[in-house]
Amino acid sequence: MNVLSDSQRQIIRAIDEEAALSQWRDWKWQMRHCIRDLDTFERLLGVKLSEKQRRDFERTIERFPMSVTPYYLSLIDTDDWENDPVFRQSFPSPRELEVMKCDMLDPLSEDKDSPVPGLTHRYPDRVLLIVSNMCSMYCRHCTRKRRVGDRDSIPDRAEIAAGIDYIRRTPRVRDVLLSGGDPFLLSDGELDWILSELRAIEHLEVIRIGTRTPVVLPYRITDGLVDVLKRHHPLWINTHFNHPRELTSSSREALAKLADAGIPLGNQSVLLAGVNDCPRVMRALVHKLVCNRVRPYYLYQCDLSEGLSHFRTPVGKGIEILESLIGHTSGFCVPTYVIDAPGGGGKIPVMPNYLISWSTNKVVLRNYEGVITTYKEPDSYEPIFCDRDCENCELQLALGDADENKALGIEMLLADHDKTISLVPASNERHARR
Ligand SMILES: *Cc1c(COP(=O)(O)O)cnc(C)c1O
Repeated sequence: MNVLSDSQRQIIRAIDEEAALSQWRDWKWQMRHCIRDLDTFERLLGVKLSEKQRRDFERTIERFPMSVTPYYLSLIDTDDWENDPVFRQSFPSPRELEVMKCDMLDPLSEDKDSPVPGLTHRYPDRVLLIVSNMCSMYCRHCTRKRRVGDRDSIPDRAEIAAGIDYIRRTPRVRDVLLSGGDPFLLSDGELDWILSELRAIEHLEVIRIGTRTPVVLPYRITDGLVDVLKRHHPLWINTHFNHPRELTSSSREALAKLADAGIPLGNQSVLLAGVNDCPRVMRALVHKLVCNRVRPYYLYQCDLSEGLSHFRTPVGKGIEILESLIGHTSGFCVPTYVIDAPGGGGKIPVMPNYLISWSTNKVVLRNYEGVITTYKEPDSYEPIFCDRDCENCELQLALGDADENKALGIEMLLADHDKTISLVPASNERHARR
């Protein structure tokens, strides 16, 4: 058990003279004392905003409210608070009100690809299920800003049950991703109910949970919660660290509890201007993550949601960061950089080019050092014509293990067994004339 830092002592005293220091580590105490207004913010942190900053703040929270846990607030460096990465992720900026032409309320079309409320079925074999719209900290870069704090979109038990029912009657779904809001703001009992219902579905193989509590409310990872989670394996957790400063002793303790329970941990970062748009910051982050048994999973290009324009970087910044990681550090430190396609196209990976040229029997490649090299391809390769008759194929895939889904998209164009020769946009004029 670690001791409180000076700023944590100062904050707990400023919240409640009488509070026992041990209450700091009680996640419900943290939730009850989330900072939602400016006076409390200034008082707890001991900083003073200008009149203009105050007016800007009030304007901004009318549209996009603020909530910060005392714990997350305590990570702000008061000597340079306005440039602090924790401050920038948690404190409203008037620039959130700048709406660009390209901005959208639901850029990822999560609401459109939704067969039942709260569930998005975008990919063939996995779904996203929103089980909570509550968050302890309102990330200023939230892609679901449209829903934060919106009382009409709180999923109730009936809505969650309807989502689970959809999974039950859709055998193709082998992976469910629980998201929100933050699923870990539900009670242990509520989570146990959801996980038990899901586990009882035979075709569902993997359950995933996306949570930022290890970053903003690490005390939520209690022994009781971990006891619930480990009854429902295989269970994977993705968390959301954006800056190395967020890996504190408290968050490391939370991650260790989850990892000790046999839960594979991943991290999804968002590339944010002024927070982590720097190869050195990102390298420090991924190294700290793997030291804590967290595998960097995705690095997201910032979405086109309304209110995020000041956080966006050019795509080239992400490519530059990947260029600085691939080859330079351990392969498992490198996240996949993705752009989540507006309109619901899903995540599209983007990275530097390594394949420079090729001929019929050679490819030309370059490595991270700039060395240009060749790989000689085999002179003879007998492709096995695939007619999907796995029973008579020498590769010995037991038929029970085969997936029966039809090939899709570009995969379909490449397949021997499918006669499709091109993909044509539905609105193609030339085809319409035929
Ligand atoms: C990100 C996402 C998933 C999961 O995608 P993976 O690439 O498997 O992590 C599933 N559904 C939706 C709607 C998503 O946005």
